[in-house]
Amino acid sequence: MEKWQQQLQQSVNTLERLREYINVTEAEEEAIATMKTTWGTSPYFASLMDRDDPACPIRRQVLPTLQEKINRYGIDDYLNWKENRKIGEVRPDSIARQYEDRVAFTVTDVCVNYCRHCFRKELVVDRDLKLRMDVDEGLAWIADHPEVRDVLITGGDPLILSDDRIEYIIRKLREIPHLQMIRFGSRMPIVLPHRITDGLVKVLSGYHRVPIWLNTQCNHPKEITELTAEAVYKLQTCGISTGNQAVLLKGINDDVETFRQLHQKLLSVRIRPYYLFYCEPAPGIDHFRTPVEKGAELIRDAIRGHTTGMAQPMYVIATNIGKIPLMPDYYIVDKNEKEYTLKNYKGITTKWPNIPEEE
Ligand SMILES: *Cc1c(COP(=O)(O)O)cnc(C)c1O
Ligand code: SF4
Repeated sequence: MEKWQQQLQQSVNTLERLREYINVTEAEEEAIATMKTTWGTSPYFASLMDRDDPACPIRRQVLPTLQEKINRYGIDDYLNWKENRKIGEVRPDSIARQYEDRVAFTVTDVCVNYCRHCFRKELVVDRDLKLRMDVDEGLAWIADHPEVRDVLITGGDPLILSDDRIEYIIRKLREIPHLQMIRFGSRMPIVLPHRITDGLVKVLSGYHRVPIWLNTQCNHPKEITELTAEAVYKLQTCGISTGNQAVLLKGINDDVETFRQLHQKLLSVRIRPYYLFYCEPAPGIDHFRTPVEKGAELIRDAIRGHTTGMAQPMYVIATNIGKIPLMPDYYIVDKNEKEYTLKNYKGITTKWPNIPEEE
């Protein structure tokens, strides 16, 4: 058995195993004992948790809390609403669609780490929502829709499937003439980097007409280790570009210092920040959400101009009608036909000549 499979077999998902890694608080124990929810992580990710601090950013993403029972601001039946599952065209359960030219293709509802802030909490974590994850049905639908040029393979965590299964999905997608690119959304490089094996690399590698991209999810600098760096390097040596989709999480990454460090550290392991997501209004995750403005403020105060331009993610809210960018806009202080007055990250202004649109 490969190392990553051993890790999965030894998932940290019982109180007994959890106690090998941390001193469990009474509140954590009560939540685990009384709540009907899936929780757990890999031994590797568990080993990154702080033994004594319940506010540890990794611990908070791994362990259920009683706060999840409270739902003041979340939307009921969130995922069905968000993924337009009950309106418009008829699609297989595995296909979520908000755009004409690209779709999200859910191939599994199993994860390594059951993130407490998951926007698909109803499906993946709490499991009140059941969907049919039929891969062949999804593939047939995509083959039937020539306007779809980009498929985002998601889950759950799609890299939890076997190498053979992943190879099959990629091969079938590449046989579809209108497909131009394949994307994977996977937390593996962060929660179980051992998954990026030579066998997987073989499946993903090669110079092809249809390239593969991978976006992972990393929310705090503590989640990045040497193993992550090696896994990403391996992916890139076989032609897979690696991006990050962070989730803005209250008390975890919503301060200037942590936020900047996260994005700098991602680049230091060759992961390019792509999105910063506002934490979605799925039921029971109010305690992870900040006001909407917070993400733009962090980009303004921690990143833009303050550090490498490549460290900037685009801040978006993922809604039922697609992603809406909400970037900070403080740059234009004044404008007229002839010139703009522009302000930089330090608040210093400059003038810039404008060229009017030709008649
Ligand atoms: C996020 C998402 C996509 C991809 O959006 P990009 O902005 O291209 O990364 C596509 N379809 C659905 C349903 C999505 O949620
Ligand atoms: S890895 Fe993704 S799908 Fe799985 S629990 Fe975390 S956020 Fe949800």
